[in-house]
Amino acid sequence: MSTTEQRVAVVTGAARGIGAATAVRLAAEGRAVAVLDLDEAACAKTVGAITEAGGKALAVGCDVSQSAQVEAAVGRVVAELGAPTILVNNAGVLRDNLLFKMSESDWDTVMNVHLKGSFLMSRACQKHMVDARWGRIVSLSSSSALGNRGQLNYASVKAGLQGFTKTLAKELGKFGITANAVAPGFIATDMTAATAARVGMSFEDFEAAAVSQIPVQRAGRPEDVANAIAFFTGDDAGFVSGQVMYVAGGPLN
Ligand code: NAP
Repeated sequence: MSTTEQRVAVVTGAARGIGAATAVRLAAEGRAVAVLDLDEAACAKTVGAITEAGGKALAVGCDVSQSAQVEAAVGRVVAELGAPTILVNNAGVLRDNLLFKMSESDWDTVMNVHLKGSFLMSRACQKHMVDARWGRIVSLSSSSALGNRGQLNYASVKAGLQGFTKTLAKELGKFGITANAVAPGFIATDMTAATAARVGMSFEDFEAAAVSQIPVQRAGRPEDVANAIAFFTGDDAGFVSGQVMYVAGGPLN
């Protein structure tokens, strides 16, 4: 591909939260962006924000944990936007509970969306990156990878995605493809609002408790994470691979 050709990015879970901010940011970087989420109609807001700013975007409905849907979705992206050479594995769900109350379905759902979904999406997109001899894969880990009470399933997948990232980096580096992970701390989104509701706190109190532990003394915003992803997916980041960047307003113990 010539250096002037527009690169195509796929962002999963991009209807809202961190994924939406990332899709908007990558479009501002000049990427054509496939805004992928469970419900295609729910992607309209993100797509609208991109196209109103003069960018190019496509809404794609897909459950990332279902291989047939993933293959069909990536096929649509190739046909309607072009071959994807940037992938952001962002789609996520929570099924928090203490071990003794965690159901098999809570465990399986979180494994399937985060880990299997990242595997299926990466497998479907990598052949286009190999063909282009250029690619960027960024996966969303979390500060919970270091261990978090009530999140045995989630902490396991977020730690797993760090090993996944380092292995992709080793396998795919020779094709000009980098793989990195971004591990956010507390970011104000619907996901953290749902956690506040689950523990019976108002979002304001929940956020204030989180902020009291953050050195820069504010909650993270989806755009903070999008900034880090923009760096990893950038043309200039080709020698940075297999890394985990914590975006948490300070170091984590
Ligand atoms: P969010 O607001 O809950 O958004 C997640 C998006 O993923 C939703 O639009 C959701 O769709 C979509 N999704 C869920 N399951 C899917 C599937 N099987 N296939 C396709 N899309 C699916 O979450 P967020 O806070 O922006 O988090 C984004 C990522 O960052 C996640 O991987 C999360 O674990 C990670 N993260 C977040 C934080 C934080 O503080 N917010 C911290 C660390 C890491 P529906 O709305 O239809 O369910």
